[in-house]
Amino acid sequence: MTIFVPAIPSAVTCFGAAACLAPAASTVIGTVLGLVVASYLGTLLARWPRGESATFGRSRCDACRRRLAWFELVPLASFLALAGRCRACGAAIPWVYPLLEIGCGVAGAWLFLAGAPALAPLAWLLIALSLFDALHLWLPDKLVALLAVVAIASPGFDAADTLALRLAAGVTGFAALWLIGRAFRMWRGHDGLGGGDPKLFGAIGLWVGPLALPLLLLSACVIGFGDAAWRLLRSRQARNTQLPLGTYLSAATVIIVVARPLLVPA
Ligand SMILES: [Zn+2]
Repeated sequence: MTIFVPAIPSAVTCFGAAACLAPAASTVIGTVLGLVVASYLGTLLARWPRGESATFGRSRCDACRRRLAWFELVPLASFLALAGRCRACGAAIPWVYPLLEIGCGVAGAWLFLAGAPALAPLAWLLIALSLFDALHLWLPDKLVALLAVVAIASPGFDAADTLALRLAAGVTGFAALWLIGRAFRMWRGHDGLGGGDPKLFGAIGLWVGPLALPLLLLSACVIGFGDAAWRLLRSRQARNTQLPLGTYLSAATVIIVVARPLLVPA
């Protein structure tokens, strides 16, 4: 009988042969970078659904539209210092922003510490996409396109996968969900899949490669069934609720990204 023993991640993060960081420095840099990226992704999450530019204009309170001062925009620290409420109107700051910051900070800290900093941008984008779909049932094309670029530039899940195999997995992932969506529409007469889901699955395929793609879809379905059961337990009306497949796909992939340093030696 073979017993699988995970590889122990490297305690030192190296950027090529040029520079290596001690574990404490890796953790701090990964955390800070994660928080900074999450702050920007949170701006996209707040403004894009309203049709606003994320580049221009100052950040405002969602409730009273007051412009926020710089000390109200420090990732996580501001939320904690303000006890989760607007300084002027007292409205609760949506939980999604600290959640995004904690998720990106923890993923950054772990992946830098585990010697896999090149995977951190992938995790950060997937966390943001999972929240976009959960909150707005929307996977912005710009963010999915960026994910595709980051996915192909990152070390693949399976280091043995060639670029051609990963591109083939991207096309297969897109085509598989697109065909399922078309078949559902012909069968039921209405859409059952969001238009962004095939694009997201294709972008994820560029990273996971062909062999892990079916397992990833299965994992996303398991997460989805769990979520659907939870919603039905809370309310029978949830039967008619549209479920965010993009959130399940992103969440399943984040788990694999975070676990990769344990499964595949750096
Ligand atoms: Zn306010």
